[in-house]
This record gives sequence, C-alpha cells and structure tokens, in this order.
Amino acid sequence: MPVLSKGCRLCFRGAKMVLFITGRCGRSCWYCPISSERKGKDTAYANDREIRCDEDVLDEARIMSALGTGITGGEPFLVPERVVHYCRLLKGTFGDGHHIHIYTGIAPGNDVLDAIAGLVDEIRFHPPHEIWPDIMESTFPRAIRHARSLGMEVTVEVPSLPGIDALEPLMDELDFFNINELEWSETNAHEMRMRGLDLEDCYHNAVGGAEDWTRELRRHEKVHWCTSTFKDSIQLRERLKRIAENTARSFEEITDDGTVIYGVLECGADMPDIDPETMEVTGGRVEMAWWVLTDDFRDHPGKKYVVERYPNNGMIVEVIPL
Ligand code: SF4
Repeated sequence: MPVLSKGCRLCFRGAKMVLFITGRCGRSCWYCPISSERKGKDTAYANDREIRCDEDVLDEARIMSALGTGITGGEPFLVPERVVHYCRLLKGTFGDGHHIHIYTGIAPGNDVLDAIAGLVDEIRFHPPHEIWPDIMESTFPRAIRHARSLGMEVTVEVPSLPGIDALEPLMDELDFFNINELEWSETNAHEMRMRGLDLEDCYHNAVGGAEDWTRELRRHEKVHWCTSTFKDSIQLRERLKRIAENTARSFEEITDDGTVIYGVLECGADMPDIDPETMEVTGGRVEMAWWVLTDDFRDHPGKKYVVERYPNNGMIVEVIPL
C-alpha cells in the first residue's frame, strides 16, 4: 500500500476545502480540466462559492468543518500575494494545524518558495507534459529541493498521460507521487478526440487506457493512484456530509450521499396547523420532514413534493411529486 500525504488523508475524509485562487494560467495543457466558466478568469472560489471578501472563505471553511485547504487554479503563483494572504488568514483563524497544500504547474523561484515557507505544508508540482522526458534538466529538481529544505512536504501530482515513466528519476527527490486518472471534461473533449482517446465507460469521466499508461510506475511505494470515481463520489460525498451535519434543518434527512431530503406543501392561504419547531413557512409554502408530509398532509389541498438537494441550499438533485 502506498503511504499517503496528510493532505490526501484529509481529502479522503472530505475535510479539505478547495480554494480555487485564480482561473488564469500561463500554460495551455491540452488536457486541462478547468470548466469554461472559470478558465482564464481571475476569480477565486472557496469550494463553489465565489469569494468576494475574506469572510466568504472563513464561512465556507466553517460550514464544512474544514481541517485543511487545497489551493488550486489556474496557476496559484501568478497571484503569490493572494496565496500568502489566504494562507495567513486560514492559519491565523484556524491555527497552524489547518493543513494547506498547493498545486503549481511551474517551478517557482526560491524567493516565492521562501515567501510561503511556514504557511504551506505540502507543495504539489505538476511539470508540463512536454518536458517530462528531460525533467532532470529542467528547473523542477531545483524547486523541489528548495521546497524540501524549507520543511514542506513535496509531491509530484500529474494526470495519467502516455510517457509518465519518464518522471521516475525524480522519485528520490520526493515525499509522494500522485497520479490523477486522466479526466474527460467539456473543455478538453475536442483535444481528447483529436488524440483518438475516448471515455472508459458511459458512467464516469475517466479516459480509456489511462490506467494502463501508469502500470509500471504504480508499483513504486511513493505512488498513489487517484481515480476519477474517487474524486466524483467519495471525496465529494464526504465533504457534503460534513456540510450537511453543520447546516441541515432539524426536519431534513441527511442521506448516505450527503444530500438532504425534505417535503414541501404549497398551500397558499390554506395554511394547515403547523408546528414551528419542526416546520418552516416561507410565503405560501411549508417545508417539513418528508415523512410528515406523506403521512399527515397527503389529503391537504395544495401541491406536494419531496426535494433532495445538496446541503446548505445547494443544487437540487431531484424533485418527486406526490
Ligand atoms: S497547468 Fe493546470 S491549470 Fe494550467 S493549463 Fe495546465 S492543467 Fe490547466
């Protein structure tokens, strides 16, 4: 079994907030999975919440009881002052134990690495695909050694692409090596097709063949293989559960997927007797436990349905009319 970094162990528990610090990036990787909504725009998000002030970041961390933050983008080191600002804000508010890891597609200069020393616990390098064959002659080994000398854990994190074995000579310099299963997205689908690649199946966004390209490297004990199914399901599900536990109303049922379920009665002025302890009235609608709706109000006039959604007023997953 590979040894996992602390950042990955917290991710397994859904306990890491994702701080998308900018959508800008100086590179143009053909496999880049960033959505067109975020790509190229200098907008920051804490999970799915657009950041307008520091309190947005702290509030998002609190509602999921975050034990750490993963800083991503775009290229975070295009906005190094912003990185330092949010690291200080998070560590200053939640303590030094709030674990921070950061992704980068560049080999930052020593001055930049010096500026994040003591603020970032783990740095994850993503060298460009085109330099993999000459990785030891690139600026990455220097940046990796310097980051390590400053006390950061150092990981290489790359998507599973053909030719990945060329990164093997870096292994001795690293603490961990993460391989992300190559993922299909709306922004890279055209490039994938141009290269003759296709989806592995109809249910996930993993790319066919991506697992095979990594077979040799995955024998190494520092290598952790992160599947697209894990990211889609377990990581997201565990994060939703944490948010639901902090935000669900007393009458909402929290599902095993971390969604919440409740019943809605749209009755206009024809209000039934309600228990304000266990129901909520907004306008002409009453929200309540779904089983109270189906057991006690089935014959009450008005439209009735059961809602399943992400917690904290999140995306609606399903509406079941009664
Ligand atoms: S470095 Fe990352 S964010 Fe930038 S283009 Fe490549 S995959 Fe996208």
